Amino acid sequence: MEAVQECIRDITKGIGEEKISVDKPTRIAHRITHGPEALLHEDLGDFTPAAVVRPRTTEDVVTIVKHANRYEIPLIPQGGRTCTYGAESMRDGIVVDTTSMNEILEFDEEALRIGAQAGVRVVDYIDYLAKRGYMSLEFPTMNRASTLGSRASISGYNKFENRWGGSRDHIRGLEVVLANGDVVQVGRGSSTPTKSVVGLDMMSMFIGSRGTLGIITKVTERFIPTPPAYVYGIRAFNTIEDALRTYMELRSPINAGVIWRAKAYHKWLLSQAVKGSMEVEWPDDVVMLVDYHILGEPDVVEATKKHAEAICKEHNGFWRDDMPPTDFVGRMHETMEKYMGMAALQSERLVTGGMGNRIVPLDPQISNKHLINFYKDFLVFLKRLEDGKSYPRLSRSLRVLSPGAPVPGEEGWTKVWSLTLANWKQFDKTTIQEFKSWFREYAELVWRHCGSLTGTHGFVPREMEIEFIKREVGETGYELMKTIKRALDPKNIMNPNVKF
Ligand SMILES: Cc1cc2nc3c(=O)[nH]c(=O)nc-3n(C[C@H](O)[C@H](O)[C@H](O)COP(=O)(O)OP(=O)(O)OC[C@H]3O[C@@H](n4cnc5c(N)ncnc54)[C@H](O)[C@@H]3O)c2cc1C
Repeated sequence: MEAVQECIRDITKGIGEEKISVDKPTRIAHRITHGPEALLHEDLGDFTPAAVVRPRTTEDVVTIVKHANRYEIPLIPQGGRTCTYGAESMRDGIVVDTTSMNEILEFDEEALRIGAQAGVRVVDYIDYLAKRGYMSLEFPTMNRASTLGSRASISGYNKFENRWGGSRDHIRGLEVVLANGDVVQVGRGSSTPTKSVVGLDMMSMFIGSRGTLGIITKVTERFIPTPPAYVYGIRAFNTIEDALRTYMELRSPINAGVIWRAKAYHKWLLSQAVKGSMEVEWPDDVVMLVDYHILGEPDVVEATKKHAEAICKEHNGFWRDDMPPTDFVGRMHETMEKYMGMAALQSERLVTGGMGNRIVPLDPQISNKHLINFYKDFLVFLKRLEDGKSYPRLSRSLRVLSPGAPVPGEEGWTKVWSLTLANWKQFDKTTIQEFKSWFREYAELVWRHCGSLTGTHGFVPREMEIEFIKREVGETGYELMKTIKRALDPKNIMNPNVKF
């Protein structure tokens, strides 16, 4: 019997047959993810795992990992499979579907800490806290599908990033099953989830590791009481410079204590959205919109609103009643996300087994110093995608949905959240090659502006990943990562297609 079949047999004995599936439909359902990597492969059989296991407890995960380690079988942890890359499975690998590990385990109101199994969906976690008068700081767009374990594993970006930071700032402790089956509790130098100088900050090593160092089974997070007041504002601008300067000032650290989000939208996205949804034309002179959200105590929110309005005015912000509405679904952000979601769905996806439209996100991190110049160059780069000459085959299969909505990253840094839409059915060999050249051109553009590809999505085609990581962290940085990987996972069973 093949090693993988022996391994599956032993796992089945260990955790029970109701927690394992080897039927083809289930294996196919778990082979690819929302991410674009699948576009770049002609044979999806390469992604089909040998089995899908659904552990419910840490002990189940330990049993799975010990058998996989003995037989040297790759394990691919999966949450909601909405991430840009990392959860794709592989031939003769075993998918660990964590979504049955969905219990909230501890809730400590006084300490503002909550502990949960790694497969809890973020939406359920948000609801759990909201019902008790608290607000989750974990808030990704895809919260209905994504899980708490994946948030740690990808170092998630949150709606409240500008105010409270990303997942790495809210996560206070992790329980991880290592490749040898050991279970470790990691925090910031202490297993008690708070600041500590006792040991090394080992938790950070697992944040962003995408399942390559171990399987996260439990997450401890901080949360806050729900702020009582909330205000929303939006202004239009005639130039990119005015809009981006407003955005940068609104999100500056001085204001970030109360303005929890500022975002800019370009007319390329706006005109497509209002045309697609209402069949109306966007006024050509309105180049960008910038919106902001303020929350906190009522008097602070009121004072900050006046301050935000003054910033917009100083940079020639205005509002005109003849502009098409941009809130046809809800606030600007939800409206544009839904528009882009609809664009992805409007294809023959259901009848072609998922091979319809697919979103390809690019979200470079750019320092505010370079933002305006980068943005202008980025628009030129995206226009080349659609000019039909620079990438003749690709231009027929990939189009721009949003040329980038700048949103806050770290202090002084911006994530330029942009989306293209691929028609998967048209991705033949030539298109795949053109896509890779186009992606390289994109990466060089980002690096030329001293930026990084490591935004929320940080998608990099698999065959370029190691080369690109080295470009970002250097040869010695990458060697250090490999040393850690080898020490923790010498047989390379933990998500071996990713990073190493
Ligand atoms: C339209 C759109 C908008 C998005 N907006 C955001 C956003 O606002 N913020 C943001 O951060 N992301 C965003 N994303 C990306 C993605 O949805 C999120 O990062 C999400 O949190 C991923 O969760 P998931 O459960 O789907 O992860 P998956 O895709 O299932 O997994 C992601 C990675 O984590 C690993 N993993 C999963 N579970 C574990 C575990 N228990 N232990 C170890 N490794 C594990 C997987 O192997 C994989 O490498 C967006 C995606 C889309 C399509």
